[in-house]
Amino acid sequence: MTMKIVPAVEKSYCVLDGEPLTEAVAMELTKLEGNDILDLVSLANKVRDKFAAKGEPCSIINAKCGVCSQNCKFCAQSVHYHTKIETYDLLDADAIVKSAKSVYDEGVRMYGIVTSGYGYLKAEDDEFQKILAVIDALRTAYPDMRICASIGVLSDETAKALADHGLYRYNMNLQTNPERYAELISDTHTIEEKIQTIKYLQKYGVTICCGGIFGLGETWRDRIKMAFACRELDVDGIPLNVLLPIQGTPLEKQPIMVPCDVAKVFSIFRLVNPTKVIKFAAGRETTMKDFQGLLMLSGMNSFITGGYLTTRGRSIEEDQRFLGYLKGFMD
Ligand code: SF4
Repeated sequence: MTMKIVPAVEKSYCVLDGEPLTEAVAMELTKLEGNDILDLVSLANKVRDKFAAKGEPCSIINAKCGVCSQNCKFCAQSVHYHTKIETYDLLDADAIVKSAKSVYDEGVRMYGIVTSGYGYLKAEDDEFQKILAVIDALRTAYPDMRICASIGVLSDETAKALADHGLYRYNMNLQTNPERYAELISDTHTIEEKIQTIKYLQKYGVTICCGGIFGLGETWRDRIKMAFACRELDVDGIPLNVLLPIQGTPLEKQPIMVPCDVAKVFSIFRLVNPTKVIKFAAGRETTMKDFQGLLMLSGMNSFITGGYLTTRGRSIEEDQRFLGYLKGFMD
């Protein structure tokens, strides 16, 4: 008896020959179930192996937490919801440099500064100036560490200032299908402002990390639309999060995604974006449990290590051990 690969996966093998996946075939892949998902996972791993450079884990610091004027439905830091998180103003440069030392000493060479809030449109803003000073201090203290930031919506002026201070990468997530951003994520800012921010930064040579979050109640079509929007924006890295429902937010009762759906969506993102860094951000430990290794074989080539914004993650040491277990499957 000969085993057949399911037709939707067979059609997707064109990606290995350098042909782009079409939206129609990507939608067909979303219908796969059971063992057929493993055919897709296997192809995603081959595509990662052939086209994607080895991704590097990164760490982030939540440099300013909570009291955010925006109303992103998944977020514990919004002032619109009653979540019991610890809030604090922007940490000073010394505290951030000190905190970066611990991840630097453990071998991490990409470090992201994250702040809550809408963003910064004026370069003379006091808080923005402090962030520039933090970037300078980190670059001086750790010249071989690449510094990233995720500080919200920018103007042409603030994007240029970040580039002038040597920022390597900026995170600005689409979060979901751009057409449904206001409905699924937030209506206190627009997806157009976010896309414009990405374009300003690209103009000044800052690389872009842009992905989103699954498990909000979005459809498979929404997920595919996001994958193609990332491709169209030609972003460099795609961080993918899986919702951990947080008490007090509008999504507190959302069911957690099952591992096979997470593996399916990661695999499709890899086929749509063969050469990019695809990184698992928050939700890796809680949603994937014993299946974290499966994710690495589903096209992922990087992850955030050492904790997230308002939730803990696995330690850097444990993650390094985990990468060792994958030798042979992915090198
Ligand atoms: S995701 Fe960012 S902008 Fe949205 S509520 Fe949270 S901290 Fe504010």
